[in-house]
Amino acid sequence: MANPIVIAIDGTSASGKSTNAKRIAKALGFFYVDTGAMYRTLAWYCQRSQVDVSDPKAVFAACRKWRASLECVDTHIRLLVDGYFPEREIRTAEVSRAVPQVAAVPKVRDWMKKKQRECVRFGNLVMEGRDIGSNVFPETDYKFYLDASLDERSARRAADGIEENLAARDAHDSQRAAAPLMIPLGAVVVNNSGLTPERTSQMILDEIHKRLPAKE
Ligand code: C5P
Repeated sequence: MANPIVIAIDGTSASGKSTNAKRIAKALGFFYVDTGAMYRTLAWYCQRSQVDVSDPKAVFAACRKWRASLECVDTHIRLLVDGYFPEREIRTAEVSRAVPQVAAVPKVRDWMKKKQRECVRFGNLVMEGRDIGSNVFPETDYKFYLDASLDERSARRAADGIEENLAARDAHDSQRAAAPLMIPLGAVVVNNSGLTPERTSQMILDEIHKRLPAKE
């Protein structure tokens, strides 16, 4: 494929990135990539290997030596460590608390960016995260930034049985020096407070269709 298309979906925690990115990828027949899961996997790996996540050098040393590879299962591209995808383990409160520290290490972000850019070898992508439109694929014409009120986002997490201080995680992600969470230049901002996933993903798809090159 000459030039794979990348749809970048960034936004705050629990703003509906995963739900919408999956819906959009399915509607377009694109591959789906959850970059948050990649950072979570490294945080989980550090905890399991007793690496102090508050020590940037130790975190990067772990990232340099782990055996990680990309794999595609049912159009979802995932990062495996030692051939394993810790799907459930990376969703614990402990990992959620540790991941912003791991994600703030500049050399870890460089490593992740390289892996994330490598994903185009599979084909067209819908990639969700915090810095996809601003840092990983700044050249894409398809950038979206999702947000919703803190009350609504906290209620969504609580409905999934997860109590978390989302504001603290967002503050950490927005204030780090390396590729912070921000609205990428040229992004369409979608505040989906009070909107269903159907409505949100349709709004995004309408924008994408306006920009997609016409089929011959
Ligand atoms: O999206 P999710 O909540 O799983 O992301 C977990 C964490 O991973 C974020 O809070 C952030 O610290 C980090 N992250 C990041 N850059 C990305 C994706 C996630 O820094 N592109």
